[in-house]
Amino acid sequence: MNICVYCGSNSGKNPKFKQMARQVGRAIAKKGDVLVYGGSMGGMMGAAADACLEAGGEVVGVMPSLLTDKEIAHNGLTKFYETKDMEERKNKMMRISDAFVILPGGFGTLEELYDTLSASQLGIHKSPIAIFNIDGFFDPILDMMDRVVSETFAPDLDRGLILWVDSTEEMYQEIESFVYQVGKKYVG
Ligand code: AMP
Repeated sequence: MNICVYCGSNSGKNPKFKQMARQVGRAIAKKGDVLVYGGSMGGMMGAAADACLEAGGEVVGVMPSLLTDKEIAHNGLTKFYETKDMEERKNKMMRISDAFVILPGGFGTLEELYDTLSASQLGIHKSPIAIFNIDGFFDPILDMMDRVVSETFAPDLDRGLILWVDSTEEMYQEIESFVYQVGKKYVG
């Protein structure tokens, strides 16, 4: 499987975040899967990639030209795709990935999460999306989902598009047993 990891281009101040990024990278390598990510060498992103490579795994980076100097591109990856813009990057990552894993990050990560979630809701992809809610970092997203459902902007069933996980073992269990199901979207 190609597992796409979305997380911060910075490390954040909670050391558990980077530790988990490394554990995810290692787990992907151990499983013989491929880690797909944004191609940066720093922050949480770099930590996940480095851990995967150090454990003998394969890592594919996808980065738009406009970012290759802002976010220093990792030069030790198995494969590196340069895209013309952010849109092409996201589309490429979505197209080549079989599952998505979200770890803490900034606005870019949140955008990637919502983009992946809304694409799943529309059936553009039907792959699992696992979130590591480390120290409750993503609790506000959970609250927002509850609010969206209670206000009837999304069917209750669609909550199941997101898998909430705490460990890499759970991540794999949940990803492997995921069954794509969406509720009927109503208009009006
Ligand atoms: P961040 O979580 O903000 O550190 O960003 C994580 C990754 O998302 C980085 O590779 C950013 O370049 C990328 N990113 C930033 N803004 C966006 C956006 N609007 N859409 C998609 N990705 C973004």
